[in-house]
Amino acid sequence: MQVHFWGTRGSLPTSITTKMIEAKIFKAIQVSQAYKLETDEAIKTFIRHELPFSVRETYGGNTSCVEITNQTEYIVCDAGTGLRDFGNHYMKAKMSGQKNLPNVFNIFISHLHWDHIQGFPFFTPAFIPGNRINVYGYHEALEHTFVNQQNEPCFPVPLQAMRADISFHVMEPDRIYDIAGVKVTGIQQHHPGDSYGYCFLKDGKKIVYSTDSEHKEGAQNDNHRFIDFVKEADLLVFDAQYSFLDAVDAKVNWGHSSNLLGVELAVLAGVKRLCLFHNEHTFDDEALDHFLEDTRKYLKILDGSSNLEIYLSYDDLTIEI
Ligand SMILES: [Zn+2]
Ligand SMILES: [Zn+2]
Repeated sequence: MQVHFWGTRGSLPTSITTKMIEAKIFKAIQVSQAYKLETDEAIKTFIRHELPFSVRETYGGNTSCVEITNQTEYIVCDAGTGLRDFGNHYMKAKMSGQKNLPNVFNIFISHLHWDHIQGFPFFTPAFIPGNRINVYGYHEALEHTFVNQQNEPCFPVPLQAMRADISFHVMEPDRIYDIAGVKVTGIQQHHPGDSYGYCFLKDGKKIVYSTDSEHKEGAQNDNHRFIDFVKEADLLVFDAQYSFLDAVDAKVNWGHSSNLLGVELAVLAGVKRLCLFHNEHTFDDEALDHFLEDTRKYLKILDGSSNLEIYLSYDDLTIEI
């Protein structure tokens, strides 16, 4: 299986500023002084291998949207602004004449906070007759909230004007669903208004998408239900919006977790790959580079023999499982 990240930013879309771009160019030229870059190939190799991620690229600013790719129907978690890019990618493939593209889109919603639904009004496939959009979630207000965000005076195009066949499905926690050949279960999470994590099982592979979740004291106990839920997952996408200090001090009860807690829970549960997600919107690219480095250092301190792979999500990241 393969997971592609279309939107990774927490709470609020974030754009890169002109000053940030200037700082990246400055740093790149500064570092390049020590190299002889006489051909295009040499320049490309230098960019790829000598510049840190925060200088050569960007973590991106779209809010939550993650795709489990190459399925018989599309499977997407959350409808943040990343959903617009996913929709545009689909449209491009369709316009270029690509055959056998699925026309069913299954979108699993963690909760109804704005940053997890705001991409839907800009999701072009939802305007195309013949497409089917299934929106899944655990909140009773699922359909009402989607309809409402497109009602006046918030948005000029009502949901009813979207021409695809759109339906909403409220699921029951702990029940196992078979959707597009994938076994799907959910878990209730601690977050203002509740949120739900999703577990996807197929061909012996396990992917857990768990965002907007504050793990309280006791989360590290072996018998904690979250540990069971993520046990031996091939990939755990984990809400790590906060640094450890934020999580235990300034931002208690704000509904998010830290990078360090993510490492502890992943190690306890025997997870193979941990992807930090819902990136803090006030962190710039350099801060996020350090955040990832610190998280990897913490794993070494916690368990030097651990084989856990740690990623920090960015818009356009693909993880092979
Ligand atoms: Zn969120
Ligand atoms: Zn939230």
